[in-house]
Amino acid sequence: MSEQDEPTSGFPAQQQTLPGRTDAMDPPPDHGEHSYRGCGRLEGIRALITGGDSGIGRAVAIAFAREGADVALSYLPEEQGDAEETASWVRETGRTAALCPGDLTEQHTCEEVAGKAVQELGGLDVLINNAGVQMARDDGLEDMSVERIDRVLKTNLYALLWLTQAVLPHLHKGSSIINVSSIQAYQPSTSLLDYAATKAGINNLTVNLAAELGPKGIRVNAVAPGPIWTPLQPATQRPEKLESFGTDTPLGRAGQPAEVAPAFVYLASPREAGYVSGTVVGVTGGKPVF
Ligand code: NAD
Ligand code: MG
Repeated sequence: MSEQDEPTSGFPAQQQTLPGRTDAMDPPPDHGEHSYRGCGRLEGIRALITGGDSGIGRAVAIAFAREGADVALSYLPEEQGDAEETASWVRETGRTAALCPGDLTEQHTCEEVAGKAVQELGGLDVLINNAGVQMARDDGLEDMSVERIDRVLKTNLYALLWLTQAVLPHLHKGSSIINVSSIQAYQPSTSLLDYAATKAGINNLTVNLAAELGPKGIRVNAVAPGPIWTPLQPATQRPEKLESFGTDTPLGRAGQPAEVAPAFVYLASPREAGYVSGTVVGVTGGKPVF
């Protein structure tokens, strides 16, 4: 990388509302569109990626397709534009992209999304529980609304369990589940306390799901990203916070979605990660995940 290409430290102050849109971000994130090169690591694999429309999920979809996988993308109905953009990158590789919109905070939607993914892909080998939401908080604990707590816990924890239950009958020996944790599980911010608790819970669930599903030959792991430039950030952080976003990491900058996707490729690959289960891979710019 030349000095000129070095990523800048922070980002211009900007604000969006949830769920956030890729085309409103300045600068646009890098999902590996022009850099990721596959080499057949996931040939023939069928993966459901929740939150696959944007950010980390989009980068994973592009990497998986270029490695030979077909993907189903789950996302909120208002994210149709982002989902279609991701699908077009997948289809450009000649792989299938199935679109499965729906709000995962409802159990019946999780079941419908799982059913559509299985039907359109002709089965399922990998579930990536990537959908997630956070909301930065200025108010005191006593002002945290039930709606907010419900949204964070249902999106990050309930949906993970409901989707896992829904896809389980379709998974098989060699399948895997990859959950998305966070540096917040290890270094929690008070302003994100409910979100941080869900991510610690996801690490804990990853260990127990690996123990429970191991005898079926199903591996369960998690990826814990550090600060990554995705629509979630301008949609949930105070605008001025983005100006220093990521600068407190040892590498001194935020990561791009494209820099997180290879960890998912590794964990999904039965050949390369066949004996890896119950673990968390950190992609944090140097912050510890232990
Ligand atoms: P993102 O906004 O691009 O992706 C999150 C996706 O979650 C959305 O696109 C949306 O489709 C989905 N989602 C949210 N609520 C949903 C609901 N009710 N029903 C269905 N889908 C819903 O942001 P991202 O940063 O790529 O987030 C992906 C994952 O990475 C999340 O789990 C997030 O917690 C985690 N993460 C992100 C960072 C970061 O700095 N960006 C750091 C650590 C962990
Ligand atoms: Mg999105």
